[in-house]
This record gives sequence, structure tokens and C-alpha cells, in this order.
Amino acid sequence: MATGLQDASRKDWDTYFMDIAYMVSTRSRCPRRHVGAVLVQGKKLLGTAYNGAPMGVPDCSEAGCMIAESYELAIVDGKEEMVKKQRCIRTIHAEQNLLLFTDRIDREGSTVYVTDEPCWTCANMLANSGIREVVFHRAYPKDSAKVNELMKQKGIVFRCLETYEPPGQAGMNVIS
Ligand SMILES: [Zn+2]
Ligand SMILES: [Zn+2]
Repeated sequence: MATGLQDASRKDWDTYFMDIAYMVSTRSRCPRRHVGAVLVQGKKLLGTAYNGAPMGVPDCSEAGCMIAESYELAIVDGKEEMVKKQRCIRTIHAEQNLLLFTDRIDREGSTVYVTDEPCWTCANMLANSGIREVVFHRAYPKDSAKVNELMKQKGIVFRCLETYEPPGQAGMNVIS
């Protein structure tokens, strides 16, 4: 009878690893977006990464964000409209840093927990990285449709932790 050993207050694995991803994201120095990602094989943590400038060059906190503007189709009050969006392009995205700092052999069959739904470029790279599952929390609607389609084509499990709540200040709102 092992049922008595269940502890309701104990975190499930999804929550446990997403909490770690959020903690990692607090290392980011870009004021516009803090993203954290972790690589998990089985229940073993094999790597962590956050969005940031390449090592040894000034980051957003020192040099300011590097802003790129573009117009995108968005739904405004139920109507399609072209809206101007600003993004910081100084940083390497968390998912890309995770791929740069982990080994292919560790990624085969593994899971990536990432605080934010991957953008198209990151999703494309993750799709070719050996990983089998991507778990995220905050949605990124801009690329969501094509990213979901890609993950389906690749047979990668793609899950959003909809009821998850980030720990403390780690999940602070950032400009999207
Ligand atoms: Zn920045
Ligand atoms: Zn990305």
C-alpha cells in the first residue's frame, strides 16, 4: 500500500522543471523579455539557458536593447490590422543558447522546458535538435500556428502548462 506516501503539496515534475526554467530566466539582462529554458532527460537536468548577448560583449543592461521594428498582422478589436511591433535583437534566444551549450547525445529523446512558447526560428532549430518534447508556459501568438504545425509534422510533443503559476517574482510581466 503505497498510496499513503502521496504528498499533495509535493510538486509534480512539470511544475518542478518549469519553476527551474523561470529561475534561470531571472539571469537575463534584457529588460524587454526574460526567457529561461532547461533540458531534461528522464528526470535529469542536463542544461540551462536564458536569453542574452554573446559572452564577452555588452548586454542590454549595459548597451541598451537593440530594437528592430516590423509591421505584423494582428487582430485588433476583432479586425485584422497591421500593427508596428518592436523587438530586441541583441540577445540569443534561450532555446538557441540551450542548443549551443548542450550535446546532441544528451538531447536525443529529451524534453525542453521553456518559459515562453518558442518563436519560429527557435522552433525550427529545436525541431532539428533531437529533442522529443517541448513544454512551455506563456503563449507567443505571433508564431504559434506555424510552430504547432511544425511540431506536429516532426512528431514532437508540444504542450502548454496552462494552469501553471510561476514562483514569486520570476514570472514578472515583460513587454511583448
Ligand atoms: Zn534587450
Ligand atoms: Zn526564439
